[in-house]
Amino acid sequence: MPTNHSRRSFLQTLSLGVGSTLVTSSILANKNLPLVKNQKKLGIALVGLGSYAKNQLAVALTQADNCYLAGIVTGTSSKAEEWAKKYNIPQKNIYNYQNFDQIANNKDIDIVYIVLPNSMHHEFVLRAAKAGKHVMCEKPMSVSVKQAEEMIKACKEAGVQLGIGYRLHFEPFTKEVMRLSQQKVLGDVHFVQTNFGFNIGDPAQWRLKKELAGGGPLMDVGIYCVQASRYVTGEEPLWVTAQFGPVTDKERFTTVEESISWQMQFPGNAMVNGFSSYKSNIEQLYVSANNGWIQLSPAYSYGPLKGRTNQGEMNQPVVHHQTVMLQAICKEFIETNTFPSHTSGEEGLRDMRILMGIYEAARTGKKINLV
Ligand code: NDP
Repeated sequence: MPTNHSRRSFLQTLSLGVGSTLVTSSILANKNLPLVKNQKKLGIALVGLGSYAKNQLAVALTQADNCYLAGIVTGTSSKAEEWAKKYNIPQKNIYNYQNFDQIANNKDIDIVYIVLPNSMHHEFVLRAAKAGKHVMCEKPMSVSVKQAEEMIKACKEAGVQLGIGYRLHFEPFTKEVMRLSQQKVLGDVHFVQTNFGFNIGDPAQWRLKKELAGGGPLMDVGIYCVQASRYVTGEEPLWVTAQFGPVTDKERFTTVEESISWQMQFPGNAMVNGFSSYKSNIEQLYVSANNGWIQLSPAYSYGPLKGRTNQGEMNQPVVHHQTVMLQAICKEFIETNTFPSHTSGEEGLRDMRILMGIYEAARTGKKINLV
Protein backbone atom coordinates (compact mmCIF):
# COMPACT_ATOMS: atom_id res chain seq x y z
CA MET A 1 0.00 0.00 0.00
CA PRO A 2 1.59 3.34 -0.99
CA THR A 3 1.88 6.05 1.61
CA ASN A 4 -0.62 8.88 1.70
CA HIS A 5 1.90 11.15 0.12
CA SER A 6 2.73 8.82 -2.75
CA ARG A 7 -0.94 8.12 -3.35
CA ARG A 8 -1.51 11.84 -3.48
CA SER A 9 1.24 12.35 -6.06
CA PHE A 10 -0.16 9.42 -8.00
CA LEU A 11 -3.60 10.98 -8.12
CA GLN A 12 -2.18 14.37 -8.92
CA THR A 13 -0.42 13.01 -12.00
CA LEU A 14 -3.68 11.48 -13.10
CA SER A 15 -5.21 14.41 -14.94
CA LEU A 16 -1.96 15.13 -16.73
CA GLY A 17 -1.17 11.50 -17.41
CA VAL A 18 -4.50 10.48 -18.85
CA GLY A 19 -4.27 10.03 -22.57
CA SER A 20 -0.55 10.64 -22.63
CA THR A 21 2.25 8.12 -22.55
CA LEU A 22 3.18 9.03 -18.98
CA VAL A 23 3.78 5.87 -17.00
CA THR A 24 4.51 5.86 -13.29
CA SER A 25 6.46 3.06 -11.70
CA SER A 26 3.57 1.25 -10.01
CA ILE A 27 3.44 -1.21 -12.88
CA LEU A 28 6.83 -2.20 -14.15
CA ALA A 29 7.34 -3.70 -17.56
CA ASN A 30 7.94 -7.41 -17.21
CA LYS A 31 10.73 -8.73 -19.37
CA ASN A 32 8.87 -11.98 -19.98
CA LEU A 33 5.91 -10.28 -21.61
CA PRO A 34 5.30 -11.23 -25.21
CA LEU A 35 6.48 -8.36 -27.36
CA VAL A 36 3.67 -6.69 -29.19
CA LYS A 37 5.49 -3.54 -30.24
CA ASN A 38 5.19 -4.06 -33.97
CA GLN A 39 1.80 -5.59 -33.84
CA LYS A 40 -0.83 -3.37 -35.43
CA LYS A 41 -3.94 -4.34 -33.51
CA LEU A 42 -4.26 -6.07 -30.16
CA GLY A 43 -6.66 -9.00 -30.02
CA ILE A 44 -9.19 -8.70 -27.20
CA ALA A 45 -11.51 -11.44 -25.95
CA LEU A 46 -14.66 -10.36 -24.10
CA VAL A 47 -15.71 -12.64 -21.23
CA GLY A 48 -19.47 -12.45 -20.54
CA LEU A 49 -21.62 -11.16 -23.39
CA GLY A 50 -24.16 -9.14 -21.43
CA SER A 51 -25.41 -5.64 -22.02
CA TYR A 52 -22.15 -3.74 -21.35
CA ALA A 53 -20.14 -6.08 -23.57
CA LYS A 54 -22.73 -5.97 -26.33
CA ASN A 55 -23.82 -2.34 -26.34
CA GLN A 56 -20.55 -0.60 -25.44
CA LEU A 57 -17.36 -2.66 -25.54
CA ALA A 58 -18.11 -4.53 -28.78
CA VAL A 59 -18.91 -1.20 -30.41
CA ALA A 60 -15.64 0.27 -29.12
CA LEU A 61 -13.74 -2.70 -30.51
CA THR A 62 -15.06 -1.95 -33.98
CA GLN A 63 -14.19 1.75 -33.67
CA ALA A 64 -10.71 1.71 -32.09
CA ASP A 65 -7.91 1.36 -34.60
CA ASN A 66 -5.37 -0.43 -32.39
CA CYS A 67 -7.47 -3.32 -31.05
CA TYR A 68 -10.26 -5.58 -32.23
CA LEU A 69 -12.68 -8.22 -31.01
CA ALA A 70 -10.59 -11.36 -31.52
CA GLY A 71 -12.49 -13.76 -29.27
CA ILE A 72 -15.46 -14.32 -26.98
CA VAL A 73 -16.14 -16.33 -23.83
CA THR A 74 -19.79 -17.05 -23.12
CA GLY A 75 -22.05 -19.49 -21.34
CA THR A 76 -24.82 -18.98 -23.91
CA SER A 77 -24.38 -20.92 -27.15
CA SER A 78 -26.89 -18.81 -29.09
CA LYS A 79 -24.77 -15.71 -28.31
CA ALA A 80 -21.64 -17.55 -29.49
CA GLU A 81 -23.29 -18.16 -32.85
CA GLU A 82 -24.72 -14.66 -33.19
CA TRP A 83 -21.46 -12.90 -32.25
CA ALA A 84 -19.31 -15.19 -34.43
CA LYS A 85 -21.38 -14.19 -37.44
CA LYS A 86 -21.65 -10.50 -36.60
CA TYR A 87 -17.96 -9.97 -35.78
CA ASN A 88 -16.43 -12.64 -37.99
CA ILE A 89 -14.90 -14.52 -35.05
CA PRO A 90 -13.33 -17.89 -35.93
CA GLN A 91 -14.60 -20.97 -34.00
CA LYS A 92 -11.14 -21.51 -32.49
CA ASN A 93 -11.47 -18.16 -30.66
CA ILE A 94 -14.80 -18.97 -29.00
CA TYR A 95 -14.79 -20.36 -25.45
CA ASN A 96 -17.21 -21.14 -22.67
CA TYR A 97 -16.61 -20.85 -18.91
CA GLN A 98 -15.47 -24.48 -18.67
CA ASN A 99 -12.87 -24.52 -21.47
CA PHE A 100 -11.80 -20.88 -20.98
CA ASP A 101 -8.35 -21.92 -19.68
CA GLN A 102 -7.41 -23.23 -23.14
CA ILE A 103 -7.17 -19.59 -24.18
CA ALA A 104 -3.57 -19.91 -22.94
CA ASN A 105 -2.70 -21.52 -26.29
CA ASN A 106 -4.39 -18.91 -28.43
CA LYS A 107 -1.97 -16.44 -29.95
CA ASP A 108 -4.76 -14.26 -31.36
CA ILE A 109 -5.74 -13.15 -27.87
CA ASP A 110 -3.52 -10.52 -26.21
CA ILE A 111 -5.99 -9.22 -23.63
CA VAL A 112 -8.91 -10.88 -21.89
CA TYR A 113 -11.63 -8.40 -20.80
CA ILE A 114 -13.82 -9.61 -17.91
CA VAL A 115 -17.40 -8.25 -18.13
CA LEU A 116 -19.10 -10.73 -15.79
CA PRO A 117 -21.18 -10.12 -12.64
CA ASN A 118 -18.96 -8.62 -9.93
CA SER A 119 -18.38 -11.71 -7.80
CA MET A 120 -17.07 -13.63 -10.83
CA HIS A 121 -14.30 -11.10 -11.59
CA HIS A 122 -11.90 -12.66 -9.08
CA GLU A 123 -12.08 -16.21 -10.48
CA PHE A 124 -11.77 -15.14 -14.10
CA VAL A 125 -8.94 -12.67 -13.54
CA LEU A 126 -7.01 -15.42 -11.75
CA ARG A 127 -7.70 -17.89 -14.56
CA ALA A 128 -6.75 -15.35 -17.23
CA ALA A 129 -3.49 -14.61 -15.40
CA LYS A 130 -2.76 -18.31 -15.14
CA ALA A 131 -3.34 -18.58 -18.88
CA GLY A 132 -0.67 -15.87 -19.34
CA LYS A 133 -3.08 -13.29 -20.74
CA HIS A 134 -3.16 -9.59 -19.86
CA VAL A 135 -6.45 -8.69 -18.20
CA MET A 136 -8.90 -5.84 -18.22
CA CYS A 137 -11.61 -6.18 -15.58
CA GLU A 138 -14.81 -4.23 -15.13
CA LYS A 139 -15.65 -2.17 -12.03
CA PRO A 140 -16.04 -2.89 -9.23
CA MET A 141 -12.85 -4.89 -9.47
CA SER A 142 -14.06 -7.47 -6.92
CA VAL A 143 -16.44 -7.92 -4.02
CA SER A 144 -13.82 -7.72 -1.25
CA VAL A 145 -10.45 -6.18 -0.50
CA LYS A 146 -8.92 -9.65 -0.11
CA GLN A 147 -10.08 -10.68 -3.58
CA ALA A 148 -8.67 -7.48 -5.10
CA GLU A 149 -5.31 -8.10 -3.42
CA GLU A 150 -5.27 -11.67 -4.72
CA MET A 151 -6.07 -10.51 -8.25
CA ILE A 152 -3.17 -8.03 -8.21
CA LYS A 153 -0.81 -10.66 -6.81
CA ALA A 154 -1.86 -13.29 -9.38
CA CYS A 155 -1.27 -10.88 -12.27
CA LYS A 156 2.09 -9.74 -10.89
CA GLU A 157 3.26 -13.32 -10.40
CA ALA A 158 2.13 -14.29 -13.90
CA GLY A 159 3.84 -11.21 -15.37
CA VAL A 160 0.64 -9.94 -16.96
CA GLN A 161 -0.95 -6.49 -16.84
CA LEU A 162 -4.17 -5.84 -14.94
CA GLY A 163 -6.38 -2.85 -15.72
CA ILE A 164 -9.81 -1.77 -14.45
CA GLY A 165 -12.33 -0.33 -16.92
CA TYR A 166 -12.45 3.19 -15.46
CA ARG A 167 -13.72 4.72 -18.70
CA LEU A 168 -14.21 8.23 -17.25
CA HIS A 169 -10.46 8.64 -16.76
CA PHE A 170 -10.33 9.04 -20.54
CA GLU A 171 -13.45 11.20 -20.96
CA PRO A 172 -12.89 14.91 -21.81
CA PHE A 173 -15.39 16.56 -19.39
CA THR A 174 -14.10 14.42 -16.54
CA LYS A 175 -10.48 15.21 -17.43
CA GLU A 176 -11.32 18.92 -17.42
CA VAL A 177 -12.90 18.62 -13.95
CA MET A 178 -9.73 16.86 -12.76
CA ARG A 179 -7.57 19.63 -14.21
CA LEU A 180 -9.64 22.51 -12.82
CA SER A 181 -9.92 21.05 -9.35
CA GLN A 182 -6.52 19.43 -8.88
CA GLN A 183 -4.70 22.49 -10.27
CA LYS A 184 -6.84 24.71 -8.02
CA VAL A 185 -7.88 26.88 -10.96
CA LEU A 186 -10.92 27.93 -8.91
CA GLY A 187 -9.06 27.81 -5.60
CA ASP A 188 -9.07 25.12 -2.95
CA VAL A 189 -11.87 22.58 -3.17
CA HIS A 190 -13.79 22.57 0.10
CA PHE A 191 -16.94 20.61 -0.70
CA VAL A 192 -17.99 17.90 -3.17
CA GLN A 193 -21.52 16.59 -3.62
CA THR A 194 -21.68 13.42 -5.70
CA ASN A 195 -24.78 11.37 -6.46
CA PHE A 196 -25.43 8.45 -8.78
CA GLY A 197 -28.50 6.27 -8.80
CA PHE A 198 -31.12 4.81 -11.08
CA ASN A 199 -34.42 3.03 -10.83
CA ILE A 200 -33.52 -0.64 -11.14
CA GLY A 201 -35.79 -2.79 -13.32
CA ASP A 202 -36.00 -6.60 -13.41
CA PRO A 203 -36.23 -7.87 -9.80
CA ALA A 204 -34.56 -11.16 -10.82
CA GLN A 205 -31.31 -9.58 -12.05
CA TRP A 206 -27.89 -10.37 -10.52
CA ARG A 207 -27.43 -6.74 -9.38
CA LEU A 208 -30.00 -7.40 -6.65
CA LYS A 209 -28.27 -10.57 -5.39
CA LYS A 210 -25.47 -10.04 -2.93
CA GLU A 211 -23.69 -13.29 -3.83
CA LEU A 212 -23.24 -12.04 -7.42
CA ALA A 213 -23.08 -8.27 -6.95
CA GLY A 214 -21.27 -8.01 -3.62
CA GLY A 215 -23.61 -5.19 -2.62
CA GLY A 216 -26.19 -2.83 -4.07
CA PRO A 217 -25.99 0.59 -5.75
CA LEU A 218 -22.79 1.50 -3.90
CA MET A 219 -20.88 -1.31 -5.66
CA ASP A 220 -22.52 -0.66 -9.00
CA VAL A 221 -22.72 3.11 -9.38
CA GLY A 222 -21.68 4.61 -6.03
CA ILE A 223 -18.16 3.58 -7.05
CA TYR A 224 -18.26 6.42 -9.61
CA CYS A 225 -18.94 8.88 -6.79
CA VAL A 226 -16.03 7.49 -4.76
CA GLN A 227 -13.78 7.75 -7.82
CA ALA A 228 -14.95 11.33 -8.44
CA SER A 229 -14.19 12.46 -4.90
CA ARG A 230 -10.68 11.02 -5.30
CA TYR A 231 -9.96 12.52 -8.72
CA VAL A 232 -11.43 15.90 -7.80
CA THR A 233 -9.32 16.27 -4.66
CA GLY A 234 -6.30 14.31 -5.94
CA GLU A 235 -6.22 12.82 -2.44
CA GLU A 236 -7.27 9.77 -0.47
CA PRO A 237 -10.03 10.10 2.18
CA LEU A 238 -9.12 10.14 5.87
CA TRP A 239 -12.37 8.76 7.29
CA VAL A 240 -15.95 7.94 6.41
CA THR A 241 -19.36 7.91 8.10
CA ALA A 242 -22.34 6.39 6.30
CA GLN A 243 -26.03 5.51 6.57
CA PHE A 244 -28.21 3.01 4.74
CA GLY A 245 -31.41 4.59 3.42
CA PRO A 246 -34.82 3.15 4.28
CA VAL A 247 -35.97 0.01 2.44
CA THR A 248 -39.20 1.04 0.69
CA ASP A 249 -39.34 -1.98 -1.63
CA LYS A 250 -39.04 -4.99 0.63
CA GLU A 251 -39.41 -7.52 -2.19
CA ARG A 252 -36.52 -6.25 -4.30
CA PHE A 253 -34.07 -5.30 -1.57
CA THR A 254 -33.65 -8.45 0.46
CA THR A 255 -29.85 -8.86 0.23
CA VAL A 256 -28.50 -5.51 -1.00
CA GLU A 257 -29.11 -1.92 0.10
CA GLU A 258 -31.73 0.20 -1.66
CA SER A 259 -29.77 3.39 -1.10
CA ILE A 260 -26.80 4.65 0.89
CA SER A 261 -25.32 8.03 1.87
CA TRP A 262 -21.81 8.71 3.08
CA GLN A 263 -19.55 11.55 4.20
CA MET A 264 -15.77 11.67 3.88
CA GLN A 265 -13.05 14.10 4.83
CA PHE A 266 -9.93 14.54 2.70
CA PRO A 267 -6.48 15.70 3.86
CA GLY A 268 -6.82 19.17 2.22
CA ASN A 269 -10.01 19.59 4.31
CA ALA A 270 -12.47 18.97 1.50
CA MET A 271 -15.67 17.36 2.74
CA VAL A 272 -17.56 14.98 0.45
CA ASN A 273 -21.23 14.01 0.58
CA GLY A 274 -22.11 10.95 -1.49
CA PHE A 275 -25.40 9.25 -2.30
CA SER A 276 -26.19 6.18 -4.35
CA SER A 277 -29.53 4.49 -4.97
CA TYR A 278 -31.41 1.88 -6.97
CA LYS A 279 -34.64 3.84 -6.48
CA SER A 280 -33.80 7.38 -7.69
CA ASN A 281 -32.68 8.58 -11.09
CA ILE A 282 -29.93 10.94 -10.00
CA GLU A 283 -26.52 11.78 -11.43
CA GLN A 284 -24.49 14.83 -10.46
CA LEU A 285 -21.06 15.99 -9.45
CA TYR A 286 -20.83 19.40 -7.78
CA VAL A 287 -17.48 20.83 -6.72
CA SER A 288 -17.35 23.93 -4.58
CA ALA A 289 -14.01 25.80 -4.40
CA ASN A 290 -12.95 29.07 -2.80
CA ASN A 291 -13.36 31.10 -5.98
CA GLY A 292 -15.98 29.20 -7.91
CA TRP A 293 -17.78 25.97 -8.64
CA ILE A 294 -17.99 23.17 -11.21
CA GLN A 295 -21.00 21.05 -11.98
CA LEU A 296 -21.34 17.97 -14.19
CA SER A 297 -24.81 16.59 -14.80
CA PRO A 298 -25.04 14.02 -16.24
CA ALA A 299 -21.68 13.22 -14.71
CA TYR A 300 -21.09 9.47 -14.94
CA SER A 301 -23.25 7.71 -17.54
CA TYR A 302 -22.28 7.17 -21.18
CA GLY A 303 -22.99 10.74 -22.14
CA PRO A 304 -23.11 13.16 -23.57
CA LEU A 305 -21.94 14.55 -20.25
CA LYS A 306 -22.74 18.19 -19.62
CA GLY A 307 -20.83 20.66 -17.49
CA ARG A 308 -20.82 24.24 -16.25
CA THR A 309 -18.57 26.26 -14.02
CA ASN A 310 -19.26 29.67 -12.45
CA GLN A 311 -17.52 31.01 -15.57
CA GLY A 312 -19.94 29.39 -18.04
CA GLU A 313 -20.56 26.26 -20.11
CA MET A 314 -17.82 23.67 -20.36
CA ASN A 315 -17.06 22.97 -23.99
CA GLN A 316 -15.52 19.57 -24.46
CA PRO A 317 -15.74 17.03 -27.25
CA VAL A 318 -18.36 14.33 -26.92
CA VAL A 319 -16.73 10.91 -27.32
CA HIS A 320 -17.68 7.26 -27.09
CA HIS A 321 -16.19 6.53 -23.66
CA GLN A 322 -15.28 2.90 -24.24
CA THR A 323 -13.60 3.62 -27.58
CA VAL A 324 -11.33 6.33 -26.21
CA MET A 325 -10.56 4.17 -23.18
CA LEU A 326 -9.56 1.09 -25.18
CA GLN A 327 -7.71 3.18 -27.73
CA ALA A 328 -5.64 4.87 -24.98
CA ILE A 329 -4.97 1.68 -23.02
CA CYS A 330 -3.88 -0.24 -26.12
CA LYS A 331 -1.74 2.67 -27.35
CA GLU A 332 0.12 2.73 -24.06
CA PHE A 333 0.48 -1.03 -24.03
CA ILE A 334 1.79 -1.16 -27.60
CA GLU A 335 4.32 1.56 -26.80
CA THR A 336 5.42 0.51 -23.30
CA ASN A 337 4.19 -3.06 -22.60
CA THR A 338 2.23 -1.67 -19.62
CA PHE A 339 -1.33 -0.54 -19.04
CA PRO A 340 -1.86 3.04 -17.75
CA SER A 341 -1.08 3.15 -14.02
CA HIS A 342 -4.06 5.39 -13.18
CA THR A 343 -6.49 2.58 -14.11
CA SER A 344 -4.41 -0.26 -12.65
CA GLY A 345 -5.45 -3.03 -10.27
CA GLU A 346 -3.96 -0.93 -7.46
CA GLU A 347 -6.40 1.87 -8.34
CA GLY A 348 -9.25 -0.65 -8.19
CA LEU A 349 -8.01 -1.85 -4.79
CA ARG A 350 -8.05 1.72 -3.40
CA ASP A 351 -11.72 2.01 -4.35
CA MET A 352 -12.46 -1.41 -2.83
CA ARG A 353 -10.98 -0.33 0.52
CA ILE A 354 -13.19 2.78 0.53
CA LEU A 355 -16.35 0.91 -0.57
CA MET A 356 -15.83 -1.62 2.21
CA GLY A 357 -15.18 1.24 4.66
CA ILE A 358 -18.49 2.86 3.64
CA TYR A 359 -20.35 -0.41 4.25
CA GLU A 360 -18.64 -0.89 7.62
CA ALA A 361 -19.53 2.67 8.63
CA ALA A 362 -23.18 2.17 7.61
CA ARG A 363 -23.40 -1.21 9.38
CA THR A 364 -21.77 -0.10 12.62
CA GLY A 365 -22.82 3.55 12.77
CA LYS A 366 -19.18 4.37 13.52
CA LYS A 367 -16.71 6.76 11.92
CA ILE A 368 -14.27 4.49 10.07
CA ASN A 369 -10.67 5.56 9.57
CA LEU A 370 -9.43 4.88 6.06
CA VAL A 371 -5.73 5.58 6.57
P1 NDP B 1 -25.32 -8.23 -17.71
O1 NDP B 1 -26.22 -8.90 -16.77
O2 NDP B 1 -25.94 -7.50 -18.84
O3 NDP B 1 -24.32 -9.30 -18.35
C1 NDP B 1 -23.55 -10.18 -17.58
C2 NDP B 1 -23.19 -11.39 -18.43
O4 NDP B 1 -22.37 -12.24 -17.66
C3 NDP B 1 -24.38 -12.25 -18.84
O5 NDP B 1 -25.03 -11.80 -20.01
C4 NDP B 1 -23.75 -13.60 -19.04
O6 NDP B 1 -23.13 -13.63 -20.32
C5 NDP B 1 -22.61 -13.61 -18.03
N1 NDP B 1 -22.91 -14.40 -16.83
C6 NDP B 1 -22.23 -15.50 -16.43
N2 NDP B 1 -22.74 -16.01 -15.31
C7 NDP B 1 -23.78 -15.22 -14.96
C8 NDP B 1 -24.71 -15.25 -13.89
N3 NDP B 1 -24.65 -16.17 -12.92
N4 NDP B 1 -25.66 -14.30 -13.85
C9 NDP B 1 -25.73 -13.34 -14.77
N5 NDP B 1 -24.86 -13.26 -15.82
C10 NDP B 1 -23.90 -14.20 -15.92
O7 NDP B 1 -24.37 -7.29 -16.87
P2 NDP B 1 -23.58 -6.01 -17.37
O8 NDP B 1 -23.02 -6.24 -18.72
O9 NDP B 1 -24.42 -4.82 -17.17
O10 NDP B 1 -22.40 -5.93 -16.28
C11 NDP B 1 -21.26 -6.78 -16.33
C12 NDP B 1 -20.09 -6.10 -15.60
O11 NDP B 1 -19.77 -4.89 -16.25
C13 NDP B 1 -20.37 -5.74 -14.15
O12 NDP B 1 -19.22 -5.94 -13.37
C14 NDP B 1 -20.71 -4.27 -14.19
O13 NDP B 1 -20.41 -3.57 -12.99
C15 NDP B 1 -19.82 -3.80 -15.32
N6 NDP B 1 -20.38 -2.63 -16.02
C16 NDP B 1 -19.58 -1.56 -16.22
C17 NDP B 1 -20.05 -0.44 -16.83
C18 NDP B 1 -19.15 0.72 -17.08
O14 NDP B 1 -19.64 1.76 -17.50
N7 NDP B 1 -17.86 0.59 -16.85
C19 NDP B 1 -21.46 -0.34 -17.26
C20 NDP B 1 -22.21 -1.56 -17.07
C21 NDP B 1 -21.67 -2.66 -16.44
P3 NDP B 1 -23.14 -14.95 -21.24
O15 NDP B 1 -24.58 -15.19 -21.57
O16 NDP B 1 -22.31 -14.54 -22.39
O17 NDP B 1 -22.53 -16.06 -20.44
